Amino acid sequence: MSIDTKIWTGPGRPAVFLDRDGTINEEVKYLGSPHQLRLIPGAAQAVARLNQAGIPVIVVTNQSGIARGYYSEDDVEAVHSYMDKLLADHGASVDAYYYCPHHPGAIVKKYLVDCECRKPRSGMLSAAAAQENVSLAHAYLVGDKRSDLKAAVNAGARGILVRTGYGKEVEAELLREAEATGAALVTNIVDDLSAAVDQILDTLEQTQPQGVKPPKFAASFRHHRPEIGPHYPRSSGEV
Ligand SMILES: [Mg+2]
Ligand SMILES: [Zn+2]
Repeated sequence: MSIDTKIWTGPGRPAVFLDRDGTINEEVKYLGSPHQLRLIPGAAQAVARLNQAGIPVIVVTNQSGIARGYYSEDDVEAVHSYMDKLLADHGASVDAYYYCPHHPGAIVKKYLVDCECRKPRSGMLSAAAAQENVSLAHAYLVGDKRSDLKAAVNAGARGILVRTGYGKEVEAELLREAEATGAALVTNIVDDLSAAVDQILDTLEQTQPQGVKPPKFAASFRHHRPEIGPHYPRSSGEV
């Protein structure tokens, strides 16, 4: 069985949110320039498979390097343009980029905001869901940090931890904690974005609804400037 995304509608439309650093591209501390950008092997092909299935791919990335004065919003957008180019070489594309430029300890005053968009908060996901006609209950967030997993929980989406980037360290921590408390490890952990997409497509194939009207997916923006950061709707159940 294949996925017919035309039958996903309105509030039931799935999406895949992707963390950026350590998930799509190799982790580099405070990546602010295109020449530092290297895609993780298989990541572009994984994004292409989501594209082919008609599932929106939305990047949600904390970029506190902006607040810390290491690089600017324009630099981040240049990185994303270059990422678009690298992805396009594999027939892959990102539908929307959301980034959080804020930090509670910002050096650059205008980014000194205790915002709703910085993961583990869910503001980027809820804003994208509203704008892109996405159901968070049918959405996934793939990332390499605990803040990604927590943002998924806070948004009511499903989190998947990848072992790329910081993921292996996080997995080891989670295992130690589970052992210490005797609790079962319930985190969904896979090797990389490619394996995450395998799992997501399998699950969506099995759970897609039947016989409902096709949706309209807004493809009206490519790069989302986060001016609305502080005004994102506050979600319930925040960690
Ligand atoms: Mg990351
Ligand atoms: Zn923010």
